[in-house]
Amino acid sequence: AMVCHAGQECLEGRKAYRRPDGGVQLFRRDKTGGRMAATHERLGIPPIPVEDLVEAVKTLVSVDKDWVPSAPDTSLYIRPCTIATEPHLGVKASGNYLFFIICSPSGAYYESGLDPVKIYVEDELTRAAPGGMGGVKCGGNYAASLYGQMKAQDLGYSQVLWLDGAERKYVEEVGAMNCFFIVDGKVLTAPTAPGTVLPGITRMSCMALLRDWGYVVQEEPILLDDLLAAAQSGRLPEVLGPGTAAVVSPVGTLRCKATPTPVG
Ligand SMILES: *Cc1c(COP(=O)(O)O)cnc(C)c1O
Repeated sequence: AMVCHAGQECLEGRKAYRRPDGGVQLFRRDKTGGRMAATHERLGIPPIPVEDLVEAVKTLVSVDKDWVPSAPDTSLYIRPCTIATEPHLGVKASGNYLFFIICSPSGAYYESGLDPVKIYVEDELTRAAPGGMGGVKCGGNYAASLYGQMKAQDLGYSQVLWLDGAERKYVEEVGAMNCFFIVDGKVLTAPTAPGTVLPGITRMSCMALLRDWGYVVQEEPILLDDLLAAAQSGRLPEVLGPGTAAVVSPVGTLRCKATPTPVG
């Protein structure tokens, strides 16, 4: 299958939650299809009608609704996926694809549950460059991040915070979640515009909620040095990682150039 050679593969990650009244709620069902459609386009995969994708997810969840758990912090994780299946070795877009959805009951993403996570700021390797694929959800982005993730884990950190691919001066996002920094009472997050940060649906929902609650939320390039200075002078009370899998994970420590910097 061509997916094994040219790597045409993409995915989504959504969740369905058990409501207190026993019903099942899909988180941001309205946003499920649009991003996967954009990912298909970037990877040269034929378009998938957004309505079909949403309908497929709804149908699977309704068939498997008994698998949606009800304990606190649990959900049914839903993973739509497309892979190139033409049997061919050359470098070209595949002629055939398989679209499938898998789902599984899931608990908290990090072993530590909602305890603050420790994050390693990677200043050598990068995962995305302007014009590349960082803005879409595909396995290739994870492949680019795994070695950094292993380095971080060896040092006792659970995730990597990636810097921009051009200058390694600006913070972008964490492996599978976006990143919010609260500095001087404002919520800062990296812009998705150059295509190096995934437009997270949890990110978008949190930005809307925060603005509703009266917070100033700014999408702007964030200099790592400014963040470290803010942390050192006590002006970085919180760092948060929003993502479907991670929910909203608090960050307790940022390790940069061998120095752990506590948040808060
Ligand atoms: C999936 C993912 C996120 C989070 O996006 P959500 O839509 O909120 O789940 C953030 N960054 C990367 C690289 C991701 O793959």
